Formats: sequence, structure tokens, C-alpha cells
Amino acid sequence: MISEQELARLSYPEAPRIVTDKLPGPKTQKMFDEARKYQTPTRPSVKVALAWDEGRGATVKDPDGNVFLDLSGGVAVCGVGRNHPKVVEAVQRQSQKIMHTSGLLNGNTIALAKKLASTMPGNMRDNSFTAFGMSGSGAVDIAIKYARAITHKSQIVAFEGAYHGVFYGSLAISPRDTFRAGFGPFMPGVVHMPYAYCYRCFAGLKYPECGIACGKYFDYKLNTPNTGADDVAAVFIEPIQGEGGYIDPPPEFLKMVREACDKKGALLIADEIQSGAGRTGKMWAIEHYGVVPDMIIWAKSIGGDQPVSGITIRADLWDKLPVAAQPLTFAENALSMAVALANVEILTDPETDLIGRAAIVGQEAKDKIMAAAKDSKVIGDVRGKGLMIGLELVKNKETREPASADAVGRVAKKLQDRGVRVMPSGRHRTTVRLMPPLVITREHLNKGVDMVLTAIQENEADLMK
Ligand code: PMP
Repeated sequence: MISEQELARLSYPEAPRIVTDKLPGPKTQKMFDEARKYQTPTRPSVKVALAWDEGRGATVKDPDGNVFLDLSGGVAVCGVGRNHPKVVEAVQRQSQKIMHTSGLLNGNTIALAKKLASTMPGNMRDNSFTAFGMSGSGAVDIAIKYARAITHKSQIVAFEGAYHGVFYGSLAISPRDTFRAGFGPFMPGVVHMPYAYCYRCFAGLKYPECGIACGKYFDYKLNTPNTGADDVAAVFIEPIQGEGGYIDPPPEFLKMVREACDKKGALLIADEIQSGAGRTGKMWAIEHYGVVPDMIIWAKSIGGDQPVSGITIRADLWDKLPVAAQPLTFAENALSMAVALANVEILTDPETDLIGRAAIVGQEAKDKIMAAAKDSKVIGDVRGKGLMIGLELVKNKETREPASADAVGRVAKKLQDRGVRVMPSGRHRTTVRLMPPLVITREHLNKGVDMVLTAIQENEADLMK
């Protein structure tokens, strides 16, 4: 396993360090003001006054020289950290040769598809093929098309609280008010089912006495006539919900979903865009549940410093897809492929074992947070696996009334002002997420967790209001 000393070389050791009197610093403020003039208001960059100028490992520098510890990992993207030396080397090597391939073959593409197949669970291992894209949202839209083409059915089942993206297909299956408002109508034929969100059970039950009511209801809905889910092509599921608030379901749930899909003849499609690529201590989060899907959608940390996404599909479905019916001018860009290949090689290197380490250091961090939660009046639930940890904040631990999203935003802002980047998520936007690069040192992780716990404690009265 990689040593702490080797990891320390990948990040700026001084993080977090704020050198300007206030944030944003003057250069960032100027950029922010200009962004509001020249960039679309729909982008988060005109809302969050942060700018990144340089990055290394789990740390980033802004144009004013402030050094941040990035516990958000670039939104769970920088699994191997920013500018990993092997990734930089791959960029340098590939950029000398060719970058744009207009969707035609390149050696990196084939090597990456093969390598990805070797990481797949169960009967998908070395028995799958990949369709490449450029963003998570795009890959989800492609998967919807493929599910319909393969099954000749139309409906897509997804889960309450899910997030699959912002394109018309992916947004239709993502019940997220803030991203939907004003953009409707959406793709029809979508059914939403309750997720196994035990802390806020849809039936008000408690695990395990509940008998996994959500799993039973799922089977009932899919496999009973006249429930409105008669023509189901596929079920899209995040094995651990990401934007939904880092919800890791109980062990039985995914198995029940798989069984219900099999009974129905529907495909099971795992959206591992956020939970995959080793973040949870296994390459794919679904492996924690002993379930094998028919397709895995991935993006974020597989591309890391380059925008790459894809869908890896069990081999026997190859013949069911129309030939050359999905052109994408930029897909399979040779530079992106070289970077993704480097990422997957780094992630799966048994010597450095970043994924095994994520399980260990993630558990250490979670144990520490759970101990602190006992004394906290506002940390209602601590969830997640590996380096995918969520702290759900509440006004009152008895009633579980959610804290206000604004108050949680103030905790995140306080942390940002101290040089620690976190991004809340969740149904109520009240879950503080920790999704740092897997290369974060224990020292940085401990410091970050301590600072998160301190900020929550300092803001306890505000959170309880
Ligand atoms: N699915 C999941 C599970 C995600 O977390 C995200 C992004 N947060 C997406 C899809 C959309 O990916 P992108 O932003 O790359 O379009």
C-alpha cells in the first residue's frame, strides 16, 4: 500500500492556508464579477465565488495564492487527485501524438475498454463492452436509449432523491426541483420509487424490523398488474445515492431490486458516476451488495482531469444495439482516453492499493465522526462507505427535523473561509459530504474532519434554529 510520505508529495503540504484578508481575494473577486458578465447564469461558477488556478492531489490554489483542502474532490472527480504525475505524463505523451480522433479508433480507447471490462463485477468481468461519452448526464441519456433499444420497452424506473444529470433524459429521471424548475416538460415514461433511505423511511419504519418494506414495495410495483409500471425497460439506481445525501442502503435492498428486475425482465443499470472508481473501498459500490447489474454508467473519477464518461455493458447485449447509431463527435478523444486509462491503472494498481486504503482511512474518518455525533445536537446521521461519507444535519435529533439548507450552507461557507471545500447534498440539502481524492493523506483527512466537526459545533445554535 502506498505510504503516507509518498502521498504527501502529491498535495500542497501547507493546505489549508488562507493568505488574503478575506475571501474571495481580489483576483478571484474580479474574475467572479467578469464571469457574471460573460458567462451564462445557469452555471455554478457565477454563484460560487471560487476560482482554481492550480491543483495538486487533494489540494487546490486560487489565483490569490490561498491553498484549499478539497474535501469535495472536485465533486468526486479527482479520485487519483489533481495533476497526478502519471496523468500529467500521459497528457504530455499523448498530446505529442494525436488528440482528436473524430470518433475513430485509437489504441487508448481499446486499451481502456479492455481495462474497464477487467474491473467489472461478477459475470460482467472481462465480458463487457463500453460506449464512451463526455459527461455523466450524457452517458445516462445514452443508457436510456440503449435500454429502450435492447428491451423494446419504454418505461424507466428510477428512485426518489436520485440524481442522474441535467440533460432531458437524465433530468427526467432525476427528481431535483432546483434543476428542473422552468425547464419542463420532460421525457415521459418515468416512474419514481422510494429509495432505502432508512433515516427518513418512506413508510416511517425502522430497519431491520421494517422487513425492507421499500424492497417489497419495489417488487410489488414492478411485478403486479395495473400498477402503472407495465412496460419497464430499465431500472436506474445509484448503489449509494450521491446528490441524494450519501445514502448507503441496507444490505438486502439492492438484491431485492435485482430480483424484481429479473422477474420483470427489466435491465438493472447502476449509475456509479459518483460512487464508482474506488471511492467506497471497492472499484464499484454495487460490489458491496453482491449484486451484478446489466450496465454500469461511470464518469467523474474515471476521467478525473479530463471529461470522460461511459457505459459498460454486459457482452451478450452487443447484438441488440443498432450499429453506428450513436455518433458523438468528441467521444473517444485520444487525450481523454489516455488520461482515463492512466487513472484506471493508478486506481487498480495492487502495489499502491488506493482503493483498499480508501476503505481503511474512510472507516477511520467515519469512526471519528460517529464518536463526535454522539455529543452533537445536530449530527443526526452518519453514513457512507470508504471515502464517501455523509453527515446529515438536523434541528433536533429526536424529531429528525432537517436543519435549514441555508444554515448548512453557512457551515460550508465558514469552512471555505478557513480553506476547506465541502459541498452539501441531500434531499433537504442538509448532508455535508466528504468525498476527497483517494490520495488524501491521513494528516490532511484528519485535519479536514476536525475542521468540519468544529464548524458544525460552532454553528450548532444556528443549525438548531
Ligand atoms: N449521476 C450521478 C450519480 C452524479 O453524481 C452526477 C453528477 N453529480 C451525474 C450523474 C451527472 O454527471 P455530470 O455532471 O458529469 O453530467
